[in-house]
Formats: sequence, structure tokens, C-alpha cells
Amino acid sequence: MDLIGIDVGGTKVSICLGDEEGNIIDHKRIPTAQLKGPDTGLPQLVEQVGHLLRDHNLEVEEIRGIGLALPGPLSVKEGVLIAPPNLPEWKNVPIVRYFRERLGRPVFVNNDANAGALAEWEFGSAKHADNLVYLTMSTGMGGGVVTQGKLLLGGTDTAGEVGHFVLDPKGPPCPCGQKGCFEVYCGGANVAHRLQERIKRGAKTRILEEAGSLEKIDMKSVTAAVKKGDALAIEVWEEYIERLAQGIGILLMTLNPDAILLGTIAMHEKELVMKPLLNALPYFSWNIPFKHCRIEPSILGDDIGKLGALALAIEGLRQLSS
Ligand SMILES: [Zn+2]
Repeated sequence: MDLIGIDVGGTKVSICLGDEEGNIIDHKRIPTAQLKGPDTGLPQLVEQVGHLLRDHNLEVEEIRGIGLALPGPLSVKEGVLIAPPNLPEWKNVPIVRYFRERLGRPVFVNNDANAGALAEWEFGSAKHADNLVYLTMSTGMGGGVVTQGKLLLGGTDTAGEVGHFVLDPKGPPCPCGQKGCFEVYCGGANVAHRLQERIKRGAKTRILEEAGSLEKIDMKSVTAAVKKGDALAIEVWEEYIERLAQGIGILLMTLNPDAILLGTIAMHEKELVMKPLLNALPYFSWNIPFKHCRIEPSILGDDIGKLGALALAIEGLRQLSS
């Protein structure tokens, strides 16, 4: 137990103590909103690390490395949080320098999707695959690519930003400024938003009953309505799967990966996602890369955020020693 991982998510922050085998020995959790700006948030994070160390009678010198999985965009090489949408007060925050100065240990940072890809490489079902892709498939569509045990970052740290492939330049607008991005079609929040607009205009659907109210519509209520045969839910789901296959097809043809691991929605709705997705993929990929690739839901479950933060520390330490 000599690694610290900190995963800053949209609603909660997890601070964990773990080891190289992916055992999470203990963790603390605080609501993301409680951080407020960096002036109050950064000391809170360091304080939680202190609590963990005290609870386990550890000195900070016994910690080999700290991994920070943070919302993008961020500069990995400079260790700077640029302008995360969920943390509006955190602009250009040199977060790595802060942790290094306060704790005196090596600190490694990356975005949550890249951290998830590393967690898959270290601890997942396709552990140590030569070329591996992870897709978050949550409220957004994040992605990460690991080749030969290293994260693919690219020239400006934006490699793996698969959520913003343009699948249709005439498609609905994306907050990133483009139109028809992969995330517009396959990010849960965007799908829910478009459904809310259709329902406001009078579309009839069970999705509303499943959700309880218009504001609570999410992918869970969509899939619940699909299972009950709701026509609008099925239409939305078929588009979702077709766009998912289009996005994954691009990844198969570009990277020829050994494995593509799928997060949240695929983990929770394995039957509903995997069969139609695998049926649709031959329309978007050559047979050789498709048949070669293991395409399956992640087995890491809800721990993937914490495991991703630990995996960042493991990868960072490995690179330091090589
Ligand atoms: Zn976009």
C-alpha cells in the first residue's frame, strides 16, 4: 500500500490508498461541489491524503507515487488543469506542482478517460494487451489508447479524444464547437437532452414514466423503456447503437487494436449493447481488424476511477525508472 490515487469526477472525488496489484486498501470520498475553487479545493485534497496516511500509520515518505485522474482539458506535460467544465473556477491550475510541493512525492496526472484506459491495461480483462482502447460510454464519450504499456498522448495531449470525431458535419451541435461529434450521438447527457426536447414538443413515450420526470431522463430510463417495447426509446437506441458502431469502426480501422473495452452503459446493459453492436460493426470495419479485436464491457466496475488514478502512478513510476 504505497500509492495514492485521486479521481476527480463530475459529482464526487475519491482519494484512495492502494498498491501495484490494484488493491484499494482504503478510500475517502468528498462531493466535487465541496471543493469550490482551487484555493479551498487543493488544501482539502491534501488534507484527505493526510487522513488516509494517519489512519494507516503511514509517513508520506512511504508513498512511492501519486496519480491524479482529472477532468480535461489539461496539459499532461505541464501538469496544468486548463478549464474543466465541471470545475468552472479551476482555470490554468498547476495542480501537479502544488501536490509535489505539499507532499514531496512524484505526482502523475492525466484525464479520467486516459486513466481508465491505463486501468484496463494494468488490471482489466485485456491486461497487458499490446494495443488497447477504452471508451467511457457515460454521460460523455471519453476515450484512451494504450500502446505497448504507454498512453498515447499525441503532440498536444489530445490523442484519444474520440468523443469529438465528427461522424456527421451536418449533425446536432456539440458544446466543443463542432457538429455531429461522436459524443453528441453517444454521450448519455446529449442523448437525454435531445429526448427532452422531443418530449416537450409532444412525443409520446414510456421513457418519461421510467425516469419519473423530464429532468431525470437518462440512459437508464431509455434502456428500461426499450425493454418494454417503447417505440421512441427503440428508435433512439437504434441510432445510438449505429453511431456507436460507426465510432468503434473508425477506431478498428485506425488503430487495429487487440482490445476495446467499453465502460458504463455497456457494463450495465451488456445484452442490449453488445449483440446489436457486434452485428452492426461489419458495416463500419474490415473483417480482419474486427475479428481480431476483443470488444467487450469492462470488468472493472465502479472502481475504474480509483484504479485509473493508481494506474497513472504505476505508469509514471515505471517511466521514471526506465
Ligand atoms: Zn465535440
